[in-house]
Parts: sequence; C-alpha cells; structure tokens
Amino acid sequence: MIGRADTELDRTVTAPGASPTGRGPEHRVAAFTIATMLVLGALMGGINLFVDGVLHEGAGRWVYAATMGLLIAMAVPLVVRQRAGRWHMFALVLLGDLIYVVVVLCVQDPVRYATPLMLLFPAFAAAWFLGRWELGVNMVATTLACLVGLWPSYDNPVGLAVQVGVSAGMLNAAALSVFVLRRRVQRLLVATENLSRLDPLTGLFNRRFLEEQAPRLWRQARRDGVRVTVMVLDLDHFKRLNDAHGHAAGDAVLRAVARALSAAVRPSDILARTGGEELVVVGLVGDGDEAAHLAERLRFAVASSRSAEGHAVTASIGVALSRPADGEDPAQELWRLVDRADAAMYEAKQQGRNQVVARCRPSARPSVPEQLPVPAVSDVA
Ligand code: GH3
Ligand code: MG
Ligand code: MG
Repeated sequence: MIGRADTELDRTVTAPGASPTGRGPEHRVAAFTIATMLVLGALMGGINLFVDGVLHEGAGRWVYAATMGLLIAMAVPLVVRQRAGRWHMFALVLLGDLIYVVVVLCVQDPVRYATPLMLLFPAFAAAWFLGRWELGVNMVATTLACLVGLWPSYDNPVGLAVQVGVSAGMLNAAALSVFVLRRRVQRLLVATENLSRLDPLTGLFNRRFLEEQAPRLWRQARRDGVRVTVMVLDLDHFKRLNDAHGHAAGDAVLRAVARALSAAVRPSDILARTGGEELVVVGLVGDGDEAAHLAERLRFAVASSRSAEGHAVTASIGVALSRPADGEDPAQELWRLVDRADAAMYEAKQQGRNQVVARCRPSARPSVPEQLPVPAVSDVA
C-alpha cells in the first residue's frame, strides 16, 4: 500500500548514495562539468607543447599532443549526449589516471612538469559521481599512478615509498572526504524530500505526493484498460469531538483513523490526508461496483477504529470514477475527480453521514449523475 511513510515511498525517490550519473537536468550539469574539466585540462596541458625543454623530443611530443587531443575528444560525447552513465564515468576516471601516466612518460622532468596533483581530477570525479567500489578501485589506481609518476625521480626506495605514500594518501583522503560529504548531503536531501511528501500528524502522504503520482496512475490505467477512482473521506462531526474531548483527543482519533485506513486500502492504492479531517484514496478499479465495495470497506474501517482513549468517529465518503483518455492532463483530471468525489461526499453528509455515495458517470457525460447502490449504513455513536 502506498499510504504511510514506512511503506513504498522510497520507490519514488532517489535512494541515498545513488549516483548522479544518468538522465535528467542534474545529469546534464554533471556531463557538462566533466566535459569542461576535460577541455580545460587539455588546454592547460597543451601549453607544454609550446614551452621548450618540457617534453621529450620526437615521439614523446606527438604522444603528448595526441593525449591532449584525446581529452578534448572525450568531452565531445558528453556534450552531445548530455549525460554519462556509471560505466562511462568510471572509464573516464580510469582514463584520467592513465593520461597522467602518459604525461609522466612524455615530460623530461616529471617532478616539475607532471605533479601528482593532476590525479585530483579523476579522484574527485570518482568521489562525486561513482559508487563505493569504483572509488576503491580508483584509490588503488591513484596509488599506482603516483608510483609510476614518481619512480623516475627517486633513486632511494624508501624516499620513493614516502613520497608515494604522501601524494597518494593526500589524494585518496581528499577523495574519501568528498565521497563521505556527498553521501551525507544525498541522505539529507532524500530525507527532506520524503518529509515534504508526508503529513506530520498521521504519517500519511499529502496532496503534493498525490499529485506527483497522478501521471503514473493514469499511465497504468490506460495500459491496463481500467478506471481511476477517487474517494474523498470526511470525518463526521469532528468539531464536536474536538469540542467535547479536546484537540489532542481529536488528533489521536485522526491517527487511529489513518492506521485503520492504511490497513484497509489495497497495496496499490494511495491514501493521503489532503486537509484537516479530510482524506483521499486514489486507486485503480475495474468498475463502479469494485469502487463502491472498497469505499464501504473504508467506511467500516473508520467506524471500527478507536483511539487509545476509546474515542471513535465515522466518515462520509464520496466516490468518483473516470476512464483516463489519451491527451488529458493527469494532475488536472485528478483534481476534477476529487471535486466530483467531494460533491458526492457532501451528498452523503446530507443523507445522514456515515455512508458512501458514488458518482460513477464518465466525464464525457457530465449532466446525468448515476448513483451506485449504496451499501447499508450503520450508525456509530
Ligand atoms: P461534518 O460532519 O459536517 O464534516 O462536521 P465537522 O465538524 O467534521 O466539520 P467542520 O468542517 O465543521 O469541522 C471540522 C473540524 O475538524 C474543525 C477542526 O477543528 C477539526 N480539525 C481540522 N484539522 C484538525 C487536526 O489536525 N486536529 C484536530 N484535532 N482537529 C482538526
Ligand atoms: Mg471537512
Ligand atoms: Mg467533517
């Protein structure tokens, strides 16, 4: 059931630690950022082609020039496709390490012209865009690249080991810090996003979530050839309960009703609190009878629920039904259906409360309301 916070909400949000590579606006930003870094790196590195005494003459110069060209070539698919998948990004990161090694082999004095700081680019890209094990692989690659890069400059193995340890250690520590920071930020974002879809009193979803789910429901209804039903539930004489027993007792009853309804709706239904003592259930049904029976089950669930203090309440329920058509705006249609269910709910109030009224006419024929047989009404004190 999609009704309470502890259910299937995470289906709709990014899981903590999910990589920002893939599709969407943020992925476009990621792709452009990496492409910019590649082009800037190539332009900065390209300066060495025009400075005497930096590169080995002959093949070294050509390999170096080709490597800088490769950096720019790698930026092109990122700009064209405007996204980079996880494997694509991982390959770019490892290629970045490899390019550092190539540069080391092409320059005359690696300590002066090929600082291991160059490895910061792939290290940060791995930390920000990739998962745990890819980061681990890149940390090993960074250490190996430092070893290859510093090898020609140190005769003493101990001195070499210390320098590799310091350079690789700092690079990997920086990457690890960025990775941890990113995970914390992502967790906070996911938690905030989840909270923004929930009603704090009952733990039910709110209208924002309901509206977000409309396109998915409409798609599913069209695919399966079924109808969307909306049920508006309004608690009866709730003000009286507040006045008689206090607001806290009213809150406890609202929570008890939310629990009872969460248990009564079907796994695919969405249950949300849209206003003070007003709840909405949206689901897919084959026909009006199915919707009316579900509504009756919800009415019974509310009437049977009790708060810890033993207070009970009943609900009047309005039901509306629609067969989604191509080209309609799901969010707009959803609120139109809510309005129709709301009107049916007011009819239920007028007819004595604690009952279900269903308006199941198709939206193409708005003038002749059809009423489903209303199940027997039982009064709860
Ligand atoms: P009706 O059967 O016609 O719906 O009567 P009612 O008293 O339920 O409706 P009315 O609109 O007159 O009053 C709704 C009441 O719901 C008033 C308000 O104090 C109460 N209410 C709204 N939100 C909350 C809430 O979060 N907690 C509590 N305890 N009460 C709430
Ligand atoms: Mg109301
Ligand atoms: Mg009410």
